[in-house]
Amino acid sequence: MKKIVLASKNLDKVKEMRLALKDLPVEILSLADFAKIPDAIEDGATFEENAIIKAKFFCKQTGLACLADDSGLEVDALGGLPGVHSARFAGYHADDNTNNQKLLDEMKKICAAESNADYRCALAFVDTDGTQILTQGKIEGKIKTVAKGSGGFGYDPYFYLDESRTMAEISVAEKNKISHRGAALREMILKLKGRFR
Ligand code: IMP
Repeated sequence: MKKIVLASKNLDKVKEMRLALKDLPVEILSLADFAKIPDAIEDGATFEENAIIKAKFFCKQTGLACLADDSGLEVDALGGLPGVHSARFAGYHADDNTNNQKLLDEMKKICAAESNADYRCALAFVDTDGTQILTQGKIEGKIKTVAKGSGGFGYDPYFYLDESRTMAEISVAEKNKISHRGAALREMILKLKGRFR
């Protein structure tokens, strides 16, 4: 059976992607199945560039087809930040807590309690024969400075789907139905189905 490596060290993303890909006739691996793989240098200017950089890099490192996601939050009131810097918004050693605190600090600086925002995702598939497939997804919502919910990851407790519900208050299956990553994965699955019949 064909193997595909999910090229992410973010276990929450891997969980979402595994669930979305469960019906594809392929064996799904993740970077956790490989010892000592270095990090890719994500120096692209866009989600798309970074997704391709990661998929190519990990395809070369593992010798297997790779699927890489690059995603992030874009807040209108912050001019689109954190954008491609979402994972390291609070600096090199950032984690979800420090990134969320930085988001709150930036909103406070401009005296904004809420702003329109979106999550965007670029998904790149790179195979050992050089094949590249790119898909994208987006979900619009609002960032509010009051956290709600304990599910999801990253900025989810501050990302409001409507006036009352955040992305951290829904299940992984529900999130996959509506999210940026879910949309990019659905389009990718359609394209991969033709390849792995
Ligand atoms: P990447 O791993 O370099 O693509 O960085 C993605 C970062 O964007 C994550 O670390 C989160 O901070 C943020 N992000 C992307 N997708 C989501 C999501 O579904 N929920 C919350 N935060 C997300």
